[in-house]
Amino acid sequence: MADTTVFDRGEARPTLPLVDPFARAITYLRVSVTDRCDLRCVYCMAEDMHFLPKRDLLTLEELDRLCSVFIRRGVRKLRITGGEPLVRRDIMRLFGSLSRHLDSGALEELTLTTNGTQLARHARDLAACGIRRINVSLDTLSPATFRTLTRWGDLDKVLAGIDAAQEAGLAVKINAVALKGVNENEIPALMEWAHGRGMDLTLIEVMPLGEIEPARVDQFLPLSLVKARLTERYTLDELDYRTGGPARYVRVRETGGRLGFITPMTHNFCESCNRVRLTCTGTLYMCLGQEDAADLRAPLRASMSDGPVEEAIERAIARKPRGHDFVIDRRRRQPAVGRHMSVTGG
Ligand code: SAM
Repeated sequence: MADTTVFDRGEARPTLPLVDPFARAITYLRVSVTDRCDLRCVYCMAEDMHFLPKRDLLTLEELDRLCSVFIRRGVRKLRITGGEPLVRRDIMRLFGSLSRHLDSGALEELTLTTNGTQLARHARDLAACGIRRINVSLDTLSPATFRTLTRWGDLDKVLAGIDAAQEAGLAVKINAVALKGVNENEIPALMEWAHGRGMDLTLIEVMPLGEIEPARVDQFLPLSLVKARLTERYTLDELDYRTGGPARYVRVRETGGRLGFITPMTHNFCESCNRVRLTCTGTLYMCLGQEDAADLRAPLRASMSDGPVEEAIERAIARKPRGHDFVIDRRRRQPAVGRHMSVTGG
């Protein structure tokens, strides 16, 4: 068999791909570049969140260096997230520098997840950095519901951001968390709107991440139920289409558009997990739903050589768990993990 080991410039270490104990290759890295956000979605954050002091954050150069190590070790898809990634100062510099990995072919896709509030300003620059597809999180088209759900957000800003993104040639996918009693009756309208604009819609089940005021059980809406209700009005044809994430897609015959379902609660998809998550402080989480983590900031700062950080990454991947174990019920008031989605990066 041919030896596929390659050696990176200037590094004596073989750049073997990262494979976890369950033979899953780690090809997808999500990077939360800030824990701050300009919205406070009620299912995501508590109202009085305490944010990290700026000195704890990795610099943009350090984030670039860490991402580049992962890319050298086989990561092909990089998603920038947060918090809200577009509120991090000078964030376009990071997109600009990471785009060299697209040019070289080392990276297949550089993308981001955003709430869209700052997109109108940044859409063209994102496209110029080689970004082709973005995810915009939007749970409702009602200005009043949007304001309540985000605690103060302005829906028009997000809609203007989506317009700008499409004008800049970016493919937009809408992600909506399905919430009992909040947007459950609006899902068909959200879907028809998204499909009418040529955008996929992906629905997500709410996960028990971090302490929030409302009880999760009051928010949780199983997508099995949503799908069953949609089937009464629409014809859903199962698709093989995958975007490298956990969504399972159908084609809606009546609209012609694609609808995705992310079901961490009702159908666990961990067996095909190819991803790890890096926070803005350089903490690597091997699973969204587990507490175990590895500090990459110390080895990164300890040496100009990437050797120590690569070793820390290898040790972390060797501990990647088989999967998460989320439960939402009345008896269990504690979240599955203490950290909010805004810390780990959605
Ligand atoms: N600010 C960006 C955004 O709004 O897309 C990126 C970060 S946000 C944490 C990423 C995604 O996580 C959003 O789609 C949000 O709706 C989702 N999210 C946050 N908390 C969640 C939870 N507890 N369960 C499921 N999805 C959640």
